[in-house]
Amino acid sequence: MSLSFIRSDLLNLDAYTANPQSDQENLIRLDANESPLNLPAELKVKLASLYEQVIATNRYPDGSHWELKNLISDYVNESPQSSTTINHNNISVGNGSDELIRSLLIATCLNENGSILVANPTFSMYAILAKSLGINVTSIPRKEAYFSINLELANQAITSENNPPIKVVFVVHPNSPTANCLTEIEINWLKQLPDNILVVIDEAYYEFSQQTLVSELAQHPNWVILRTFSKAFRLAAHRVGYGIASSEIINVLEKIRLPYNLPTFSQLAAKLALENRALILPAVQELMKEKDRVYQVLSQNKKFKVWQSDANFIYLRLKENPTSERHDQIRQKLQQENILIRQTGGGLRISIGTENENNQLLKQLKSWS
Ligand SMILES: *Cc1c(COP(=O)(O)O)cnc(C)c1O
Repeated sequence: MSLSFIRSDLLNLDAYTANPQSDQENLIRLDANESPLNLPAELKVKLASLYEQVIATNRYPDGSHWELKNLISDYVNESPQSSTTINHNNISVGNGSDELIRSLLIATCLNENGSILVANPTFSMYAILAKSLGINVTSIPRKEAYFSINLELANQAITSENNPPIKVVFVVHPNSPTANCLTEIEINWLKQLPDNILVVIDEAYYEFSQQTLVSELAQHPNWVILRTFSKAFRLAAHRVGYGIASSEIINVLEKIRLPYNLPTFSQLAAKLALENRALILPAVQELMKEKDRVYQVLSQNKKFKVWQSDANFIYLRLKENPTSERHDQIRQKLQQENILIRQTGGGLRISIGTENENNQLLKQLKSWS
């Protein structure tokens, strides 16, 4: 079939590829930066009983996300350095933050209204979702030393006679796959961007880094902060993300999303997780201790160049001859040993697992030659 009715740019687009799910028991998944910990058993029991007793499966979900938004704003207002208070009018909830990224793209750049700027290596979904909408992506490199953004090239991209002009800058704080937070210089650069550019700050790993720019939102109405329940909150299976922004931007996001974008079960899971965050979030500190340990061991391995990490994953490359073929060999060797990691951005990204999982990873990497 010719598929001539499909947009030709879509036929050539590479989608995001996730490793297939597997019920293989001894599989060690260090490839998607999820928490290695399931929800505490008592919360799963609670959630199951909510399903049994509260959910009317014949009814649509709460399309206003009212209670969830109130709980999220309470949680966001607890953020360190947060002086301004936000409320439900400053929150939009998506089917994962991926949905919010797509809504932001639709709201800003669709129909040749704008291009986006990304600094690679970074989260691949910005470019993939943009291209799926026919939106032009301008990519600039990061500086290898600390993966800071090449701001000269960023300024050139913004001021050049780009057609269509850059309307959105996507940054991650801390970045994936390279695990570094924005520097003060980068934050100051974001602050001076003209207000006809939307700045999207993806704080998917906020609970690990404990660094947030929420308190800047009041002074910068052209900023949006994205967060997710998929990482520290252990709810990747439920697909819940949220955006924090001025009520004006939130109103636009609410226009774009599907009316019942978040299933009832996912809303209940996110609410339960927030109400019981004292049971869930302390594990973040344990994971960060494991991250420090894994970093120490790996950085003593002379074969690897390993970067400091503000998140629950570590980025590394081979010191000598860091070709994608050689990185792929490492990835495949680990896969044979039932350990999944992610090859991306010219290197390898390894999520922090449980102590036992990390030990198995370290053992395999030590014997690799
Ligand atoms: C994991 C991750 C997300 C989370 O996406 P969801 O759709 O909420 O699961 C968002 N941004 C970055 C940079 C991530 O690494």
